Amino acid sequence: MTWDAVIVGSGFGGAMVAHRLISAGARVLMIERGDWVTRGEAAWRPEASFELTPSYARDIPYRCDRGGHGTTIGAVACVGGPSVYYGCVSFRFRELDFVGDADVVADSGAAWPYRYDEIEPFYGEAEGLLGISGDDAGDPTAPRRSRPFPFPPGELAPISMRVVETAVDMGLSPFHLPLAINHTASAARQKCVACRTCDTYACAIEAKNDVATMMIRPLVERGMTLWTNTVALRLEAEGTAVRRLVVHRRDSGEELAVEAERFVLAAGALGSPHLVLASKLDELSPARAAVGRYLMRHDNAMIFGVFPQRPDPTRRFHKQVALHDWYFGDPGAAEGAHLTKLGGVQQMMTPPKELVRAHLPLGTKTLLGGFTEQLTGLLCIAEDQPRKDNGVSVDWSIRDGYGLPQLVIDTSYTARDDLAVDVLARRARQILSNMGALLSYTHRVKTFSHAVGTLRMGTDPETSPLDGDCRFRGVENLWITDGSALPMSAGVNPSLTIAANALRAAAAMVAR
Ligand SMILES: Cc1cc2nc3c(=O)[nH]c(=O)nc-3n(C[C@H](O)[C@H](O)[C@H](O)COP(=O)(O)OP(=O)(O)OC[C@H]3O[C@@H](n4cnc5c(N)ncnc54)[C@H](O)[C@@H]3O)c2cc1C
Ligand code: SF4
Repeated sequence: MTWDAVIVGSGFGGAMVAHRLISAGARVLMIERGDWVTRGEAAWRPEASFELTPSYARDIPYRCDRGGHGTTIGAVACVGGPSVYYGCVSFRFRELDFVGDADVVADSGAAWPYRYDEIEPFYGEAEGLLGISGDDAGDPTAPRRSRPFPFPPGELAPISMRVVETAVDMGLSPFHLPLAINHTASAARQKCVACRTCDTYACAIEAKNDVATMMIRPLVERGMTLWTNTVALRLEAEGTAVRRLVVHRRDSGEELAVEAERFVLAAGALGSPHLVLASKLDELSPARAAVGRYLMRHDNAMIFGVFPQRPDPTRRFHKQVALHDWYFGDPGAAEGAHLTKLGGVQQMMTPPKELVRAHLPLGTKTLLGGFTEQLTGLLCIAEDQPRKDNGVSVDWSIRDGYGLPQLVIDTSYTARDDLAVDVLARRARQILSNMGALLSYTHRVKTFSHAVGTLRMGTDPETSPLDGDCRFRGVENLWITDGSALPMSAGVNPSLTIAANALRAAAAMVAR
């Protein structure tokens, strides 16, 4: 059988394309290397944080030569992708993010092939499909919207109110984080119970509007075929078209080839370039030197304030408030006042002590691990520069259990990236201090959870592997619709933009 489309990956990029194609009557096969995540009370145990679960696949280990917390990393592999474990923050990029800051872009040649107005309707559609709740009335950088948020925000926890009151006293403009969380009980779904194990945990009662819950299950009911536990190994091209995808089915151990008119890679910003390079499709690209390059992941820092009294005695979900007062710069900063693009600051959950202990350096494990109930935090997200030196490649001399050459990550931050996050971190510390924190601890994030940019879109065929509709240049029937496509990272979480961009690409695909 020849499918109308085969899609690799069941995360944001894959699900949105599948939605459009199924609506257009196409026969769609989705390939996902992970399994469905089991819900129920066990999902909320401290040890059920994603890196400690079977969803964190280590069977295709990525080597991290530079830029990570360790020398190898696994990847979230499950139906719905990392969204099952994500923090639900669902921001639109700002209008000016699509223009790009000259200082951030520098000589990288990064450029969006479209402006905000063109993606705006797809943001609205993505917010509807994912059931986003929010209110951006107080957001000083809020982009234009042609329809309101589908749902109002949930009630603020006492600790969130304290952040708001402190920020207002400081003359700042706190506002509600837009979240993919269900606050409405119905016959079909339970509503959020505001627990404290949300970010990095699967929701035991499926009140998190993750991609598995909101998109994949309904898509299967509408006729999409989903192969779980199935690893895509390589795409085989003849001339300038992909003819088949070779997959390994873990349940049966068989290797087989599937044929389709169109192939869509949505395996994530590390997984998709891995498959392109392992399939040697870069050799067909006029932008070969850009394949796998320009990896971005934000320059993120978590600032934890240590309080004399427990800041969250009610133990409620409180990733609820954001501050964009310095998104486009902080002219009052002692250092970095000249930067015209920084990013956002947002509230973070107090993490379970087991998790804190797992991530802290040896000397601070016992000290801070024992004090987690005294902590509350703010996350600083700074836009990082797209640089050709940062990226992924494959090492053909090392093969994983499926025969794939090892993916090698090599990335570092620029002095500008670090300065941008430092400016935000200083402001975050001020807020925590004004809230009553005795001292603060800064954790620099070096994970790849916000990875984007490795197969970027653009108008220049020689430096952008994808055209403006996410089609891979040089191969007529291959699209890449995940975070790889984003030419810039902006200063907010990426998932809603990945979803909206995939809907836009799928609309163009259907129109063709
Ligand atoms: C703990 C955590 C919290 C986060 N919180 C937020 C947040 O609050 N807001 C936000 O915007 N973003 C958040 N993110 C980031 C967000 O989850 C990602 O940006 C987003 O999921 C990327 O979407 P994607 O479509 O690019 O790929 P993914 O969602 O990563 O999907 C890729 C899929 O492809 C599958 N796959 C990969 N390789 C293969 C293969 N060879 N064969 C078959 N299948 C394959 C994977 O298993 C996965 O399901 C978070 C991430 C993590 C890890
Ligand atoms: S906070 Fe709400 S959505 Fe998040 S895991 Fe808890 S119940 Fe689920």
